[in-house]
Amino acid sequence: MSMKIAVLPGDGIGPEITAQAVKVLKALASDGLRLEMEEAPIGGAGFDAAGDPLPEATLALARSADAVLLGAVGGPSYDALPRPMRPEQGLLRIRKELNLFANLRPAQMYPELVGASTLREDVVSGLDLMIVRELTGDIYFGKPRGIHVNEAGEREGFNTMRYSESEVRRVAHIAFRIARKRQRKLCSVEKFNVLETSELWREVMIEVAKEYPDVALSHMYVDNAAMQLVRNPKQFDVIVTGNMFGDILSDEASMLTGSIGMLGSASLDENSKGMYEPIHGSAPDIAGKDIANPLATILSAAMMLRYTFSEDAAAERIESAVRKVIAAGVRTADIHTDGSLRVGCNAMGDAVVAAL
Ligand code: NAD
Repeated sequence: MSMKIAVLPGDGIGPEITAQAVKVLKALASDGLRLEMEEAPIGGAGFDAAGDPLPEATLALARSADAVLLGAVGGPSYDALPRPMRPEQGLLRIRKELNLFANLRPAQMYPELVGASTLREDVVSGLDLMIVRELTGDIYFGKPRGIHVNEAGEREGFNTMRYSESEVRRVAHIAFRIARKRQRKLCSVEKFNVLETSELWREVMIEVAKEYPDVALSHMYVDNAAMQLVRNPKQFDVIVTGNMFGDILSDEASMLTGSIGMLGSASLDENSKGMYEPIHGSAPDIAGKDIANPLATILSAAMMLRYTFSEDAAAERIESAVRKVIAAGVRTADIHTDGSLRVGCNAMGDAVVAAL
């Protein structure tokens, strides 16, 4: 059976960087991987093509595919549109429509890029961690919410932190399964000492852990986790946490590596169907110049092979090709240093294909 991938390039550098990832996937396909790819517009490109940042045909393609590869959306020419028509709405809607509740954000340090981190080399060299963030629940969606005038007559804002057992359980299963593919260490992050929501979160984690006796589960308060991520990030293998804590910790973790053009991400549903995209945006300042770094998107494609298609060997081939290219001193402008070979976006894609 062939694997069906919806390719949604989006705006800005999106088309340039997804073209490189597609090139890499096609090279693997010519070696026997059965892939079927089809492209559709999203974001500003969707608005231009069909007057909607998530055109119906794009959503239908994404629904029928096994996985979605996305570039990035947004750009200054769309900023004046009414909110529902803005590119970012296309992204929020597709995540919701596909019920992508688990967001995976790896942070991995390449030895040659260790100087790009603001932290000391001994703290970050060899870093390889994964944050699994719950994406569709928590205080960002909980009701009641609002701003009202309270009994004392002053305005008061309120939000509600909520997690149901089933929401915690399904993200727990994803995190345990990921830990199994890695070092089998899972750290669940919450605020058990203060929040009832966290009390339930921890209880459910402990229950689910019984199904994964080969994975070591630990628990950490979120304030301590924020500290430990900069003190000793290498103690972590996989972190699982709620939406708000994960929002903050995943940004913190990605900055440990110092280079936004190198980090991919995945958002998964219950059946490991996923949308894969770089963590950076559409970089309108460098769009169309063939200087963007495509590695975050290429590494997102590797995540797709691993987490949706369970093609671990093919994923490893891409990741090791990227490591080889970096080790050989091939660099796009954003990660260029003295003595390395500066190449454009397209040439970087070619270099990865050659190193496969
Ligand atoms: P950005 O991530 O697009 O760019 C930030 C800086 O990093 C820029 O200087 C850019 O040139 C650089 N950069 C980003 N990706 C790069 C790459 N692959 N190679 C080299 N350099 C790279 O963030 P921004 O400037 O805040 O936002 C620009 C647009 O992107 C906005 O419209 C924003 O809404 C959108 N955005 C989209 C997503 C998404 O699609 N998931 C995420 C964030 C921002």
